[in-house]
Amino acid sequence: MAQWQGQVTPRHEYRLVSKLRLALFGSPISHSPSPAIHGSFATQLGIDVDYRLIEASPAVFPEKLDRFRWGGGKGCNITLPLKHQASRMADARTERVEVATAANTLWWDEKGQLHADNTDGRGLVRDLVSNLEIEIAGKKLLILGAGGAAAGILGALLACKPATLTVFNRTLERAQALATQHSRLGKVGYVTAAALEHEGTYDLVIDATATGIQGQTPAIPAGLLADSGACYSLSYGKASQPLGKWCEKLGTSFYSGWGMLVEQAALSFEIWTGKAPETSEVLENLRHLSD
Ligand code: NAP
Repeated sequence: MAQWQGQVTPRHEYRLVSKLRLALFGSPISHSPSPAIHGSFATQLGIDVDYRLIEASPAVFPEKLDRFRWGGGKGCNITLPLKHQASRMADARTERVEVATAANTLWWDEKGQLHADNTDGRGLVRDLVSNLEIEIAGKKLLILGAGGAAAGILGALLACKPATLTVFNRTLERAQALATQHSRLGKVGYVTAAALEHEGTYDLVIDATATGIQGQTPAIPAGLLADSGACYSLSYGKASQPLGKWCEKLGTSFYSGWGMLVEQAALSFEIWTGKAPETSEVLENLRHLSD
């Protein structure tokens, strides 16, 4: 579906562009596979898409987003460290974004209003439940991290009715704030580093920290997982390897975040185009290339 958009030329004249202009804003983003993922969706659905990576720090994000919009941009994804800022900048937010105070998908309507949604949580749940067949209902969950990604997944995980959901973060106040923010959605709490040693075991540990990008693992005790438990990292590729190796040594099942990446992308693509891409082949190709 070609979308006709107004585009400002250097001489500030409008001209018509036929491609659906999309982008990812964040920093660092140079190695992001998002253009390839959205390119595959576009080919599959016969839509002419131009998906770009736009490096942006918080200071220049508003200006770059504006320029993208006036260049014919239809919608965009947002990654670290801009998810909270994107949520604040939107004119209209979904309930998910209101609760999470973090957005990963933006788009403009015909009146030029900027809308924000967050597809991270639903993308993660689709990967856990549909692709990996990991149960969430009735299970004890531990979420590591309290940044933009953690904020985006808590609501969707709580909607699956785990027995408990506990947040652990290096900066305790952020874990506390995230748990409080989500308390009306289910049984959610937070834990200190000292208490984590004595809290018992969890069925599913989800790493939503940025430690993998730094070549590190989160500082957690080895006996944290139940015997039949599993560990899922939102990180993928090289950034998922430190935790993957740690789990391998412990004999714990480990899953990296490729599936979530593809599923959240598919949900964003559907918001922008009204068409839902099929994800399994795209995911299979990415896994072959990268893990
Ligand atoms: P963010 O907003 O910058 O938050 C980073 C989190 O990691 C914070 O909780 C931070 O703790 C923690 N952290 C950073 N360095 C740490 C260290 N050395 N030790 C312990 N904790 C540390 O980033 P984000 O947007 O949440 O993204 C987090 C990760 O999720 C990234 O790797 C991103 O690629 C991944 N992600 C993947 C997907 C996917 O689709 N697979 C989607 C979203 C995000 P403090 O609060 O103490 O600073």
